[in-house]
Amino acid sequence: MPTIDIVGGGILGLALGYDLIKRGIGVRIWERSHELGGLMGRTRFDELDGLEVDRYYHAILSSDRTLMRLFEELGLRSELRMTATSMGFYHNGKLYSMSTPLDFLRFPPLSPIDRFRLGLAILRARQVKDWRALEQIPVVEWLTNLSGRRTVEHIWKPLLRAKFDGGFDNVPATYIWSRLVRTTDTREKGGAVEKMCFLPGGYAMLIDALAKAIIARGGRITTSVAVQQVRINNGQVCGLRLSDGEIASDGAVLTLQTPIARRLLPPEAADVNARWSALEDYLGIVCMLLVLRRSLSPYYTLNITDERIPFTGVIETTNLIDRQFTNGYHLVYLPKYVAPDNLFAQMNDEALQRSFLVYLRQMFPDLQTEDIAALRIGRERYVEPLHPIGRTDDIPPFTTDIAGLYLVNSSQIYPQLTNGEAAVAHAAQAARVIEQTIPVNEELQQAITT
Ligand SMILES: Cc1cc2nc3c(=O)[nH]c(=O)nc-3n(C[C@H](O)[C@H](O)[C@H](O)COP(=O)(O)OP(=O)(O)OC[C@H]3O[C@@H](n4cnc5c(N)ncnc54)[C@H](O)[C@@H]3O)c2cc1C
Repeated sequence: MPTIDIVGGGILGLALGYDLIKRGIGVRIWERSHELGGLMGRTRFDELDGLEVDRYYHAILSSDRTLMRLFEELGLRSELRMTATSMGFYHNGKLYSMSTPLDFLRFPPLSPIDRFRLGLAILRARQVKDWRALEQIPVVEWLTNLSGRRTVEHIWKPLLRAKFDGGFDNVPATYIWSRLVRTTDTREKGGAVEKMCFLPGGYAMLIDALAKAIIARGGRITTSVAVQQVRINNGQVCGLRLSDGEIASDGAVLTLQTPIARRLLPPEAADVNARWSALEDYLGIVCMLLVLRRSLSPYYTLNITDERIPFTGVIETTNLIDRQFTNGYHLVYLPKYVAPDNLFAQMNDEALQRSFLVYLRQMFPDLQTEDIAALRIGRERYVEPLHPIGRTDDIPPFTTDIAGLYLVNSSQIYPQLTNGEAAVAHAAQAARVIEQTIPVNEELQQAITT
């Protein structure tokens, strides 16, 4: 059986490993961190009796068909719980519900005509089938044509500014289109209620189940070892330099974000390096997780159109997750998408915490210090791959000119948004390509399996 090395033990690396092993290809997964999961990993609060929760919030939608199939295969389907969730808007210092069509019709920041146009715009956007045409159009231009200038100024622009750290001039219309398409199926007929799902142990439960399934089928997973360089000989992968030594290999899949993956390429792969550098911008994130003794709002997602507030939204996941799984605490995530030069990306934890709490109290003046049981600040440099207008052809393919060298990462997920559903589907697509192109070195396979 051929064997391939997968670099990165996040959802992409694990889903890919699982898919390849089902196709009869042996896998060795290398993860730099001491635990698996990457951005979908967990965080532990020793001060709260070892409470463990997802480091970041991760929605599972009832329309996530690929994920549902995977849950079924891994025996997790029966664990999945589904709940009706609601969404709100924070606009000009007030909270508004935006969960039902009736809320929408009453939404005060817009005039009745604007609301009608916005509703029509959403319906028309969802009917677009050919996204290729949309990727040439700036998102603001498209939204202005569909929903009018006032709605763009009051609603869309503040949301886009928050999501793209101010820089959305080069964002194509596909971005909003993908969001609308993804959420269409989560609503029951008539569109009244949005249904979302959760696993009692968080997304980490999926990570654990994937790892278990890979190991049960003979795959190997090694944590706390970083891959430092891919070795190439005669135009073919021949080994890996690891943080604790060298190994022979005749196939390596890098599932890391492109700028990190490029660092692993040796000089012999200069052409691959140049190809990958054509599209490698990502936004990062700073995210404060609060473990609270009280709820802040009834909303799972609170979108913020008030530009005085620095964070992108208030995500209260315990409006979805049953609190019996969080020891009775309420979990609130305050994410802020950041370009590397953003002030908040550069602030130390103490300053960031102080600043975020000041703004959170502006929104919720009755929040008391004793309501906060614990908090954590997470920082990630590479989260949201940026796809500027008309640059689809720069997206690197899975294969390269080096035999046995592959890139399978979130920057290739387009026009869909990067999320668990898209990652698992992307991994399956990559597995099909790898199965057909993997070089087989009998001698090495013998050495690996004995
Ligand atoms: C705040 C936030 C909210 C999100 N919300 C959602 C959501 O609601 N729904 C959803 O589905 N998705 C959501 N996402 C996105 C989701 O987390 C990512 O799309 C997904 O986890 C990316 O997985 P990945 O495997 O591509 O990358 P990663 O998770 O980054 O995995 C890459 C792995 O490679 C490892 N690594 C790096 N360098 C090396 C090396 N040299 N050698 C070995 N290993 C290495 C890293 O340690 C890491 O574990 C969210 C993300 C964030 C940050």
